[in-house]
Amino acid sequence: MATLLVTHHACIDHDTGDLHPENSDRLRAIMRVLEAEDFMMLHREEAPHATREQLMRVHPLSYIERVMDAVPHDGHHHIDGDTVLSPESGEAALRAAGAVCTAVDAVCKGEVRNAFCPVRPPGHHAEREMAMGFCVFNNAAIGAYHARAEHGLKRVAVIDWDVHHGNGTQHIFWDDPDMFYASTHQFPQWPNSGAPAETGAHDNIVNVPLPVRSGGDEFRQAMSDEILPRLREFDPDLIIISCGFDAHASDPMAYLLFQVQDFVWATKELMAIADDCCEGRVVSVLEGGYDIRALAGCTVAHVRALMGL
Ligand SMILES: [Zn+2]
Repeated sequence: MATLLVTHHACIDHDTGDLHPENSDRLRAIMRVLEAEDFMMLHREEAPHATREQLMRVHPLSYIERVMDAVPHDGHHHIDGDTVLSPESGEAALRAAGAVCTAVDAVCKGEVRNAFCPVRPPGHHAEREMAMGFCVFNNAAIGAYHARAEHGLKRVAVIDWDVHHGNGTQHIFWDDPDMFYASTHQFPQWPNSGAPAETGAHDNIVNVPLPVRSGGDEFRQAMSDEILPRLREFDPDLIIISCGFDAHASDPMAYLLFQVQDFVWATKELMAIADDCCEGRVVSVLEGGYDIRALAGCTVAHVRALMGL
């Protein structure tokens, strides 16, 4: 069965300025490499706007309105120390969350096996009422709650291998026994959350911080020993990947030493669990990744793995 790609040009138009690490060139590079012949088999859909109803499963209306009101008519506006809005950013943020909901719909209806959403702004640092770390709406969490509300799924897992801890997703899932969040991330590193003792109100959160200069061996061990067994035990109805590639050795934002093959290995491990637990349902959502060459190379390999190539 096919793999679906969901994004929108507005996600490229979201302009954070040339000097910002989370800039349009990231998504331009991804879309360029996904034009290769291998990817002609991908199903492709344009991301719609997330509806208010979809957003409000995670964010209160007051926050959504605050964000949309902050979108400038020209120039740039900072809604947080790191998070910049341009005139196109409202559109991009709505479509980024909408992409994940569309991907969830297609996977849950059995139209495709799995899906990848290369979108920006990213989402995993966004808390219910707070933009943070380049993130506006928590795209992965919005997709998770959409799957439960619209498709009758009970349990959704988000697995986050971005080099930064997804404080936002953890915050949103903390009290919900039917949502599972697991993360590997560099520690110490901004945002400095994600200690092993942060386990959620229902033991539904697993954090495995990795010391500076940890590589693929440490990542695979953390996944194999701590995260994958807990994920199997949770028995998810859908797996969402918070797919950042900033733990790659070439990335300038942090100091982990993952290689492309480590992400491929982890993708295949999650697909195997999804095959056993939930008919292969996986939705992967782009988070970070700031070395353009590494980002493009990791994306090619990750999407090929999703396609079973
Ligand atoms: Zn990151």
